Amino acid sequence: MKKISLLLPVLLLFLATPALANLTKVADNVYSYVGEKDASPAHSFAANAGIVVGRDGILVVDTLISAKEAQRFLADIRKISDKPIKYVVNTHTHLDHAFGNGVFAKQGAIVISHDADRRLLEKIGDTILKNIGNYGLKPEDMVGTEIVYPSLTFSDRMTIDLGGEIVELIRVAPSHTEGSVVVHLPARKLLFSGDILFTDFHPYLADGDISGWTRTLDALLTMDVERIIPGHGPLSSKKDLQEMKEYLILFDAKARELAAVSQDVDTMAAEMKKILPKRSLADWMIGFNLKSRYLHKP
Ligand SMILES: [Zn+2]
Repeated sequence: MKKISLLLPVLLLFLATPALANLTKVADNVYSYVGEKDASPAHSFAANAGIVVGRDGILVVDTLISAKEAQRFLADIRKISDKPIKYVVNTHTHLDHAFGNGVFAKQGAIVISHDADRRLLEKIGDTILKNIGNYGLKPEDMVGTEIVYPSLTFSDRMTIDLGGEIVELIRVAPSHTEGSVVVHLPARKLLFSGDILFTDFHPYLADGDISGWTRTLDALLTMDVERIIPGHGPLSSKKDLQEMKEYLILFDAKARELAAVSQDVDTMAAEMKKILPKRSLADWMIGFNLKSRYLHKP
């Protein structure tokens, strides 16, 4: 009885607290998933996605890996705002950032990306969906998922006024993909970087352009920005951009050096691990990146 009476206030407090959205408030009018720990394929490889809420409606940044994941995201958005979802921006069109597009298109959103990443999605989207097992996903994870292409594209820069909330889309150079873009909120000194920045997470390099990527990071380092939501990982800052740049340069130089003398991916990955900075998630990506970029294809 004593135990119950002690527990009761805690229980009542719990019941009285409104269900918290899993989207974290990162600034006024800006909410995002950040620092997701479950990096399984069905959980979008722990990709971050977020929203900007203006007077006139909502802009969604990235849509996760499947209809199921996008529905979870939409339900979390509706705990925050019932305004119309006017735009979706794909920071790039990799599956974990763009395969949920259909759920938001059905809400009437205009899907936006860079020209080059719309082309990338046209080229590889259907094939990926047909061979989803190669990405560790099961058919049931993808139920209801359809590839929806961006209907609005741009090449360098686009500005969107959501009503009192200005959103700038910027592409500097080919980086994580040819058309990877950042979403900049100048008034908030905030950036959604997409996969141009991975923090505490080994990055996916297969479609990357290392020199354009480092140039892009240099450009982001000059911006008036205090907080960055990376494509994967916790809320970040310019220090993480600098570390990302160093990681890329180190990885590329060492991988070339190793590939000149060996073609054995396990040996190379073990050598890479000795020099790369420690990151909590996605160790497997090291071997994957070596295979996709630095080893001779059979
Ligand atoms: Zn990506």
